[in-house]
Amino acid sequence: MKVTRLQIVARGLSNRCPNCGGRTLFQAGSFFAVNPACTACGLKIERDEGSFLGAMSLNYGVTLVGCLTPVMLLAYYQVIGTTTAIVAAGVGAIGFPALFYRSSRSWWLMNYYVFLPHHLPANQAGPRANEDENL
Ligand SMILES: [Zn+2]
Repeated sequence: MKVTRLQIVARGLSNRCPNCGGRTLFQAGSFFAVNPACTACGLKIERDEGSFLGAMSLNYGVTLVGCLTPVMLLAYYQVIGTTTAIVAAGVGAIGFPALFYRSSRSWWLMNYYVFLPHHLPANQAGPRANEDENL
């Protein structure tokens, strides 16, 4: 069955395998450990060494825009005090990336397959078989 881009986005936002939709990206009982491959369909999640550097960049960017910039703006416009801003930025700089870790990994995987949906194993069997039949 073919997986659409909308399904890939929905699965990426809910930390699911982009190929089968299973909750298999992360190892059971661990918050940070990623499965090397989907335990349900076998999709390679850890594709290459360093393939998730993009997830780290994504995590950094979201932390900067979603957490640190608002704190800096609140301090700049004197809504919060300097000490409060320093503490909030320190806690946010450590806590936010940790909490966003799973989503950043899933979003990066989603990003890859949204632009290259034909690389999903579920999308390789069906349409190509139909194309062969039409030839
Ligand atoms: Zn899967």
